[in-house]
This record gives sequence, structure tokens and C-alpha cells, in this order.
Amino acid sequence: MDSDAVRETALRVWNCRLCKSVAFSVFLLILAIESVILIPSAYNFRSNALQLLEQRAITVMQSMALSEEALTRPRELEQLLRKAQRDNPILALGIRRSDGATLGAIGDADFSDFAIDEVLRGQRDKVSRLTLGGTCYDLAWSVVRGSERLVFLARMDSSHVNTELVAFVLRIAGLVALIVAVVTTGTMVVLYRSVLSPILKLRRSMLGATANPDHADDYQVRERPRDELGEVFQAHDKMLMRVAESKRADRLRAEERARFLSRHDTLTGLPNRDFFLEHLRQTLSAACQRGENVHVLVLNLADFSAINDALGQHAGDQVLIEVARRLSHEINAGQFIARLGGDEFSIVSAGPFSPAQAAEHAERILSEIDRPLVIGGNEIHLRGRIGITCPDTGCVEPETILHDAEVVLSRVRGDTGARYQFFSPEMTQAAQRRQEIEHGLRLALDRGELQLFYQPKVTLDPGGGARPISSCEALIRWKHPARGWVSPGEFIPVAESSGQIIAIGEWVLREACVQIRRWRDAGLIPPRVAVNVSTRQFRDPRLPELARRALAEAGIDAGLLEIEITESAAMEDVALTATVLSTLRRLGVHLSIDDFGTGYSSLSYLRQLEIDAIKIDKSFVDDIGRDSNADAICDAIIRLGHSLGKRVVAEGVETQRQLDFLLARRCEEAQGFLFAKPMPASEIAGKLGRSVEIPAGSER
Ligand code: C2E
Ligand code: MG
Ligand code: MG
Repeated sequence: MDSDAVRETALRVWNCRLCKSVAFSVFLLILAIESVILIPSAYNFRSNALQLLEQRAITVMQSMALSEEALTRPRELEQLLRKAQRDNPILALGIRRSDGATLGAIGDADFSDFAIDEVLRGQRDKVSRLTLGGTCYDLAWSVVRGSERLVFLARMDSSHVNTELVAFVLRIAGLVALIVAVVTTGTMVVLYRSVLSPILKLRRSMLGATANPDHADDYQVRERPRDELGEVFQAHDKMLMRVAESKRADRLRAEERARFLSRHDTLTGLPNRDFFLEHLRQTLSAACQRGENVHVLVLNLADFSAINDALGQHAGDQVLIEVARRLSHEINAGQFIARLGGDEFSIVSAGPFSPAQAAEHAERILSEIDRPLVIGGNEIHLRGRIGITCPDTGCVEPETILHDAEVVLSRVRGDTGARYQFFSPEMTQAAQRRQEIEHGLRLALDRGELQLFYQPKVTLDPGGGARPISSCEALIRWKHPARGWVSPGEFIPVAESSGQIIAIGEWVLREACVQIRRWRDAGLIPPRVAVNVSTRQFRDPRLPELARRALAEAGIDAGLLEIEITESAAMEDVALTATVLSTLRRLGVHLSIDDFGTGYSSLSYLRQLEIDAIKIDKSFVDDIGRDSNADAICDAIIRLGHSLGKRVVAEGVETQRQLDFLLARRCEEAQGFLFAKPMPASEIAGKLGRSVEIPAGSER
């Protein structure tokens, strides 16, 4: 191990809480043991030192006791005592008889409080004590000389005993510290090697596996020490392998699920649009190789949104699930079904099928879908519609095929009574044209490509004579920069379905009012102008306010504005129609029902509506004199109008025969090419009378 490794290991050991607590416990244990040993040792050391002192004093006392002369002659006794003091650490020395009388003494020790009675009486041969804070050691020792008992008293200097004791204790403590250090270090090293190092490996492995459970097995310890830790490692490694395996299995399952969800519809479990397109691509290329046909059916439900609105989304979901189930029953092994979104499903079939078989398949599916179903106690009658395309397998993109099928499906919705229809290329052209119109309309307003033409309505006077302009109808015109004039019959329905009609309608209303103002400012008598309002615009709650502002901004009388709504729009929601019409009526605006006769009006409803006029639809006027039914209808409408007190206007009058018919039935007004075509405002100006300025004071 180099020095860096040693330092690192030492640091690790030092930072290891486990090692520290074990080593600290060992340290305390050794300290406690050594302390237990040290206390009696110190005590022994001290008593040995005092015994030694005592021994020396007794030796001196014995030699004195043997000297007959010294004891009998005081002078020699003193010399003897002094010599003994010089040679020994004796501070004071005295000899007493057994009756307590002093035979001789040196030093100024006071033994008065020294309890030596037992020694004097010969009951004990010596007593000792430590005195003066342990710095002196007093000893009383008796010896029998002949018939006499002598008691020697000595005060020894014992101050060195404490010093030696401290030195002894320090020596021992140092030794203990050394032992503790060595043992603790040893313990830590052993602990490090046999416990800490494996535990650290285990910890590293566990942390790694926790952070990256998918690859937990990469963090196996793989070592097998021959102790219990070896078994722990083995179990731990096994556990990591299991964790990794189960994580991998979880991930695979999750990936599988995510893949499924990305390609399937969660509600019905059917493949979704993306999966369908992917499958269709494969089917096309396989069919192309085998020379088979492919046909794609796209189905949706009529009035699905009505079911959703009426019964709630949950019921709607149940319907879709049931439809998915029924469709799944109707397909066989070579067919593939998907939910494209909303209530739209698609089935692709490949094989030696003819278009007739595709039609049969569509019919089978429709009759299956038509079976009523019960959801939440409600019996629901579904009606499916199908668009079919039988593409040329060699060269068509799946997206295009699906688009074609959806285009034809949208035709089934509106165009014919049939509930399934085959795709034809013209349909795509129509859809494209519609898209272009929608796109072009977005720019038309800003670019000033829209303008209003005006078509006069004339008063029919049974007496003949001039037919004065009673009012005009404002008819929008769009001059497309590339296509030229685009008919409102083409772009108004597009604007209606795309919502652009709101902005366009607002422009028409303002422009019509401003034009009335312009005619007036030009000194002409402005006619009332009828503005067509589409269904969506009529349902917009802002319409009355918009009309009021347009009139106010142009500064014209509300009686000069008329609003036409078609009969079918008026009958969609009669209560709402009545409210809107009466609000507009309160403004003073004239109101009329356009295209009357096509919208299945209920007569009782018609009575409730506050309208001024009804306009007989052009289709009936067209057939006047050619079709007795048309005659009867026109006749009935005129009578109805009269009986309800409404003006009747016939639109699309082109022939004298039609005019005669209308005159005979006292129809009030007419509009048509027989009188005038729609024309720009400047042309209408030439047909308007001039207002006469009444000179001031002419009334008088
Ligand atoms: P509409 O409101 O019924 O307008 C009458 C349509 O019949 C006009 O067609 C007019 O030019 C045409 N017409 C009138 N007399 C004759 C005739 O004698 N012979 C023939 N062949 N046609 C006649 P236009 O201008 O093409 O408008 C078609 C429809 O477009 C209108 O039917 C109306 O529903 C809608 N429309 C026109 N302008 C607007 C508008 O500003 N807003 C809204 N929402 N719709 C409009
Ligand atoms: Mg109209
Ligand atoms: Mg009309």
C-alpha cells in the first residue's frame, strides 16, 4: 500500500462511525480495567514506601536499644540520636519509659496527640500514623530491655512518598495510554479489515443498485469472505439479481403497454389511426405483390353527438364500445378494424374481392349497427354511414386512401339518401375546392375582395303601370384574384361551416347600412335594403347589438334595414327565433322569411313570429305555369301570407307568365331577372328617385 492508500484507509477508518464506537468502547474498557488495577497498585506502592521508612526507623531504634551506655548517659544518648537523624530521614526522635517519662529527645515533634497508650502498656509493639498532610510518618515502637519497656517515638520525613507515588501513577498511566492506543488502533485495523471494508463494499453496492435498479445485478459484491459476511454477500448478490430481473420484466411490460397504447384506442381497445395507416401500408404492398384488391370502409354514426348530448359522455362511450364489438364480429381473418377517432371506424380488407362484395360487406355492417341497443335503460337506435374506397394497390399512399374514404363519407352525410357510397376522384376535387375557398376567404375581407350587389324588389300593382323599387336585397359577391367571381351559393356554406360567416356577416351588415347613407348623402331616396343573415349568424347573441351599432354608426333609420332569414334557419329553434326576431323588431328593423316553402314551417309557429314578409322560394316560382303543384304551392303561400297579414314577395321571377300569375293572386312584391339582376350600388343609384328639398317656409 502506498502512502496515499494508507492515508485514505486511515481516513475511512477515522470517519467510520462503527469503528469509532467500537474503538471507543474498547478504549473505555481498557481504561476501566487499568484504573481498577492502578488503584490497589498505587496503594501498595505507598504502603511499601511507608514500610520501608518504618523498617529504617526500627533498625535505628533497635541499634539504639542495644546501646547500654547511650541509654544511661544523656549526653551520649543525644549524640546517638543526632547521628541517627543525620543518617536517616528522621525529623524527630524520642525515647520514653513505660510510665511516659522522656528518656531523651531531639527535634521538635509534638507527639502529644499520638495515641501510643497501647504501646506504652505493651499491648501492641508499634503504632504508626501519617500526619501533617501525609508529609510526616510517626512511629511508636516498644522494646523490652531487661525489666523495663522503652518506647521509641520517631517522626520520619515521608514527603518523598507522595512524589514517588505521583511518579509511579504517571508511569503506569503512560503505560496504560500506550496500551490503549496500541489496542485501539489494532482493534480498528482488525475491524476495518474484517468488518468495515466488507460493509463499505456492501454499502457501495446497495447505493449503486438503488440508484440504478434496472441494472442492480451490475452492483453485485461477488466476494465471498469465509465468515458470516460471506453468506450476507451471497444473499445480497442473489437479491440484486432478482431485483434486476423483476425490474427488467416490469420495464418490458411497461414498454409493451406503452407500445400498445400508442397504437390502440384506450376506450375500445381497437387499433388507432396510426396503427391503421401502418397496417394499410403493409396490406397495400402485400396485395400489390399478390395481385389482390384492397377496399377501405370508413364508418361513422349519424347523430352520435346528439346521443352524447342527450345521454351524457358515458353513454356515448358505451355506444362506441358496442359499435366496436359489433364491427369486430363482422370481420374475418383477412380484415383489420380500427377506431380512427370520435365515432369514426375503419375496416380494411384485402383479397380477391369485387366492389360489389365491398358493398355487400358495407350493407351487412350497417344492418348490424342498426340493431337497437339499450344503455342505462334507454333504447338507442343507431344509424351508420359508410364511405368506401377501392384504391389501386400499386401507387397510393395510405393517408390519401383514408382521406378519400373520409371525403366520400362526408358526402354520405349530406348528399344522398344512400347510407354508403363509393369514392370517386371528383369528390376529392370538390373537397379541395372547398379547402381553397376556406383559405381564400380568410384573406378576402382584408384584401377588399368582397363587395355587395343590390337586386331591386318591385311593388306589384295589379293595375299595371310603372313598377317602383320597393326595396333592394344586398347580395354578396367575391371577386377572387385568380378565379374571378365566386358564387355566394358556393362560398357562403363554406363560411358558415368554418365560422367565417360571423366576420363576413358583420361586414355585410355595416356595408349595407353605410351604402344607404351614401345614397342619402348623394341626394337620392334610399330604398330599404334587405340583408341575408345565415343560421349561425342568427344564433349569435351579438346580432341585435351589431345591427343597432351598424345603424347608429351609419346614422340611418332602422326602417331602412330589413333582415332575411331562411325558413329552415327560423324553424331550427322556434323559441329562440321568436326571441331574436322580436328583439330586432324592437329596434325597428323589418324582418322577412326567405326561401319560404322549403323549410317545413309549422303554421302555428309561423303565427308566433313577428315578421313583415315571406319570400316564396325561387324553386316554386320557377315552375309556375309548368307544374300544377308549384302553382298550388305559390297560391297557398300567398293566401297564407295574406291571412297572417304579411307581405308576400316572390323571388326569381323571370317570365311574364310568372308575373301574371302573381299579379292575379295579388302578391305584393316581386324580385327577379324580369325586373333587374343584382347590380353594383352605383347602378342602383340610377334607378332611385331624387329627394326633393323642401325650401324653408314653403309650408305656409
Ligand atoms: P337568396 O337570399 O335567396 O337570394 C336570392 C338569390 O337568387 C340570389 O342569388 C339572386 O341573385 C338569385 N336570383 C334572384 N332573382 C333571380 C332570377 O330571376 N333568376 C335566377 N336564376 N336567380 C335569381 P345569389 O346572389 O347567387 O345568392 C345566393 C344565396 O346566397 C342567397 O339566396 C343567400 O342565401 C346567399 N347570400 C347571398 N348574399 C349573402 C349574404 O350577404 N349573407 C348571407 N348569409 N347569405 C348570402
Ligand atoms: Mg335572400
Ligand atoms: Mg331566397
